[in-house]
Amino acid sequence: MRNALPAWLTDEQLSSDIVPMLDQGDAVSLEQLAAEAQAATLRRFGRVMSLYAPLYLSNFCSSGCVYCGFASDRKTSRRRLESNEIEKELAAMRSLGIGDVLLLTGERTGAAGFSYLCRAVDAAAKIMPRVSVEAFPMTVAEYRALAECGCTGITIYQETYDPENYRELHRWGPKKDFLERLEIPERALQGGIRSVGIGALLGLSEPVAEALALARHVRHLCQTYWKAGISVSFPRIRPQEGGYQPAWPVDDRFLARMIFAFRVGMPDVDLVLSTREKPAFRDGMAGLGITRMSIASRTTVGGYHSPDGAGATQFEVSDNRNAEEFCHALRSKEIEPVFKNWDPAFNGPILQEEVACR
Ligand code: SF4
Repeated sequence: MRNALPAWLTDEQLSSDIVPMLDQGDAVSLEQLAAEAQAATLRRFGRVMSLYAPLYLSNFCSSGCVYCGFASDRKTSRRRLESNEIEKELAAMRSLGIGDVLLLTGERTGAAGFSYLCRAVDAAAKIMPRVSVEAFPMTVAEYRALAECGCTGITIYQETYDPENYRELHRWGPKKDFLERLEIPERALQGGIRSVGIGALLGLSEPVAEALALARHVRHLCQTYWKAGISVSFPRIRPQEGGYQPAWPVDDRFLARMIFAFRVGMPDVDLVLSTREKPAFRDGMAGLGITRMSIASRTTVGGYHSPDGAGATQFEVSDNRNAEEFCHALRSKEIEPVFKNWDPAFNGPILQEEVACR
C-alpha cells in the first residue's frame, strides 16, 4: 500500500533554479526571461514547430473529475468510434496534412478498454508517422503491447500535485488515487514507451506550487530515464459542461513566465501549447519557448469527419484556425511548421536496458 509522497516531489534541489524565475516581483523581469527563453529555444530547436492533432476515440468514462465535460455524471450522449469511423477520421486528418496524432479516451470502460485502444493505435500507425495516446493508466505489460502496436508516446497529466485538492476534485473512479497517478509516466517508460508528456491542469491549485512540483517531476523523469523524450504541457481550465470554475485562475503573464522558466531551466524538453489557448497567445509563445503545438483540434468524438454534428466537447477550444491559417501565422514569424517529426521505422518499445539508467 502506497501512502508516502515520493522523495522527488519534495526535493527542493530539483527546482531551486526555477524558484526565482517564477517570482512575479522584480527578481527576473518577464522581458528578460522572454529573451533568455527565446535564445534557448533557438539554440536547441531552431526555427521549427512540431505539430500534432488530437483524435477523440470515445467519451465513455468511469471517473468523476469535476473539471471535465466527459465525467461519468454528465448528461452528455456517449459514443465511441468504430473501426470504419476511426479510419475515416484518420483519413480526414491526413487530408489536412496532419502526420502526428494523439488518440484520446476517458478512463477505462467496457466500451473503450485496452483491446479497443490497441486496435485504434494499430489503425492509426498504418496511416500516421507518429501515434501517441492520452487514455487510462495501464500496466507495464500493457504499455509494452501498446508500443508494439505502434504507439510512441503517452500523455498523462497529474492534473494537480496538491494531494488534498486532488482528492476533492476527483470525486470517484480509478483516477481518484493520487499516488498511483504519479507512477504512471514511469510505468509507461518501463514498458518501453519512448516519450511521455506530463502537465498540471492550471487553475486547480496554487500555481507557483504546481509549477515547482511539475518541474521536479520533469527533472526526476529526465534523470531517471535519460533516453526517453519528456515533454511538458501547460493546459489552463476552459469552459466545459459541468461549469467548473478554476479556484486559482492563471493569467497570461504568469503562464508566459512559467513557460519561459521551464525553457530556460530545461532547455532540452519539448514544451507544448494546445488550442485551449487563444491565437494571439499561441502566436506570441511560438519561438519563445513552445516547441510543439496542436492544430485544427476537434474535442468531440468524430469531429474531423463530421465537424458539424459531432456532439459534446471535453472542453471549448480557443484557437479555431484551420491548419493552413495556423501554418501561415507560424511562417509569418519565420517558424517552419513540421508535420512529420518521426518515422515508423523507429517504432516499437525501447529495450529495457536502455530505459533504466540511473
Ligand atoms: S478528465 Fe479524463 S478521467 Fe477525468 S472525467 Fe474527463 S475523461 Fe474521465
